[in-house]
Amino acid sequence: MPNDTAVPDVPDTAELALIEASIRDIPDFPQPGILFKDITPLLNEPEALAATVRGLAAPFRGAGIDHVVGLEARGFIFGAPVAMALGAGFVPARKAGKLPSDIIDQAYDLEYGTATVEIHADAITPGSRVLVVDDVLATGGTGRAAVELVRKAGGTVVGFSVLMELSALQGRGKMPDVELHTLLSV
Ligand code: AMP
Repeated sequence: MPNDTAVPDVPDTAELALIEASIRDIPDFPQPGILFKDITPLLNEPEALAATVRGLAAPFRGAGIDHVVGLEARGFIFGAPVAMALGAGFVPARKAGKLPSDIIDQAYDLEYGTATVEIHADAITPGSRVLVVDDVLATGGTGRAAVELVRKAGGTVVGFSVLMELSALQGRGKMPDVELHTLLSV
C-alpha cells in the first residue's frame, strides 16, 4: 500500500528550483572562458543536498545496483550517499596515481593531452550492476571513460546519474548506450 506520508523520491519543482539556485556560477575558473558550476553552496544547504541525493538515486531504486562509482572529486560527495540510498557499495574512480592497491585504468582525451581514471582492480565484482555518479556532465569525456572502466572490470553499467548537464557541450552524445539521468540541464 502506498505510504502517503513518505518523502517522495523525485525532487518536485520547488526543490529543483532550490537546487538550481544553490549552484553558483564562477566565470573564468579555473581558466579563462570556463563558467565553473560551484556546488559548494548546494552542499551547505540541507534541503537542496537531501533533494539532490534523492533525485540522483530515484530512477535506479529497485534496479539491483551493486556498486555506485563516483568520479573524483565531487562525484565522491554525491556517490557515497546515493550508494547508501540504493543499498549498494561505493567505488571511488580516481585520477592517476592515487589508489594504493592494484588498479585498472582508462585513458581519455582532454582538450589538450590525455587524462586517466583508475579504480581498484578488485572493486567491481564481475557481472555486477553499476551506477556511475558525478556532479557535472560537460564534454562527456570523463563519464565515458568511467563507463569503459566499469565494463573493463566486468561490470554492467546500468546508468549514469548526474546533477547537471551543460547541454551546449554535448556530453550526452558520448552516452548513446547508457541510461543518462540528469536533474538539471543548462
Ligand atoms: P567532462 O569530462 O568534460 O564531461 O567534464 C566533467 C568533469 O569535469 C566532471 O567531473 C566535472 O566535475 C568537471 N567539470 C567540467 N566542466 C565543469 C564546469 N563548467 N563546472 C564544474 N565542473 C566541471
